[in-house]
Amino acid sequence: MRSFLLRVPKGAELLSFLKEFARKNEIKKAAVFAIGSFEDATLAYYDLETRRYEPIEVKERTELVSLSGNISLMDGEPFPHVHAVLSRRDGSTVGGHLMRASVFMVELYVTEVPGPLLERKPWEHGLKVWELEG
Ligand code: ZN
Repeated sequence: MRSFLLRVPKGAELLSFLKEFARKNEIKKAAVFAIGSFEDATLAYYDLETRRYEPIEVKERTELVSLSGNISLMDGEPFPHVHAVLSRRDGSTVGGHLMRASVFMVELYVTEVPGPLLERKPWEHGLKVWELEG
């Protein structure tokens, strides 16, 4: 089991970086945590009725107060699923499912999880989730 602690390059798009990092290091199942700062980002709220992610645009530099998520497989490829809470200059926060983020400075912690692989499969409301429960 490997763990990685690293700084994500300035200007990188975080989810693309995570996907590529997982592919390069052959990471198929992991927990992901981070703190830092974004130049701008798009979060989202999933509407169960329309089965769509409603985007929440954050067009300012924010502190990345907390990011947590995981990497598992979807269509045979490493797929990061990440949620984040961002704070603005006045301390107010916004959070949600991370769609995209331009990195100013991010300290990323990725730790592999042992055991059987997890693959995302179609589930209710158009979501793709793990079959393993409990
Ligand atoms: Zn999500």
